[in-house]
Amino acid sequence: MSLNREGPDLLPTSMKQIHLLRQAFTTALDLVLPNHCLACEGALIDKPFLCEFCRDQLRLIDGPRCSECGKPVGKFSTRETRCAECKRHPLQFSQASAPLQYSTVTRDLLLKLKFERKPLIASFFADFLAQHFASLYWLVKVDVVVPAPMHWFKHFARGYNQAELLANGMASQFGMPISNALKKTRHTQPQVRLARSERLKNIGDSIEVRRPEDIRGKTVLLIDDVMTTGTTCSECARVMYEAGAEEVFALTVARALMRNPSAVSKPPTHTVEDELSQQV
Ligand SMILES: [Zn+2]
Ligand SMILES: [Zn+2]
Repeated sequence: MSLNREGPDLLPTSMKQIHLLRQAFTTALDLVLPNHCLACEGALIDKPFLCEFCRDQLRLIDGPRCSECGKPVGKFSTRETRCAECKRHPLQFSQASAPLQYSTVTRDLLLKLKFERKPLIASFFADFLAQHFASLYWLVKVDVVVPAPMHWFKHFARGYNQAELLANGMASQFGMPISNALKKTRHTQPQVRLARSERLKNIGDSIEVRRPEDIRGKTVLLIDDVMTTGTTCSECARVMYEAGAEEVFALTVARALMRNPSAVSKPPTHTVEDELSQQV
């Protein structure tokens, strides 16, 4: 996958820098690319990360989206339509978007990323984020990239914050600075298992800005893996606005819809991490 298929000599200076960064990133990835499909474990022949079959199962979001939360709003809507949910429950960020639907293969990959310690999957999805971000008007506004925070205990148990891996992989392709400006102050239940009202109660007052100097007066790009109702990203945006952020946009790998049963299936509960998190 490439953001730009033209030669670097044809590009303006800023795009040349992006092109060179992407080349370096791709070269680094070449050293660690897997021999087997990250989703089904089948042998890879000529495409990196995913076999042809699993790649065909990825569902890009195309067509009109809600102008606030980025949810697909149907073929006949205008581009500026806000969805019914956003009219009822306005979200705090300026706009959110995601390249992929939360389909079965995307869900499986994100669960593997989170629960089976396969951080290489973040490299794969970072490319989707980068390509999608390059198509958005926010591209020219963003000053700093901020990953959605993870509680320190969960970070300790998992070994990494997947949102931080995604943010690093994506931002490095544009030479954008990253800040872990946010902090999760208490353990919360996974939002994917909860209804909207429960999500608000669950996430409320659990996120703080620990580095206000990194976001004050700046346009922030918040990165997370999945958005469903947007409650988590909205709470992150709220605290960043309180800390002086100029504007906050949210970019996630996938967009899940609450009415889609596959979008709310539960992650495995037998992992060491889950057992540990029960103790928090
Ligand atoms: Zn496969
Ligand atoms: Zn919406």
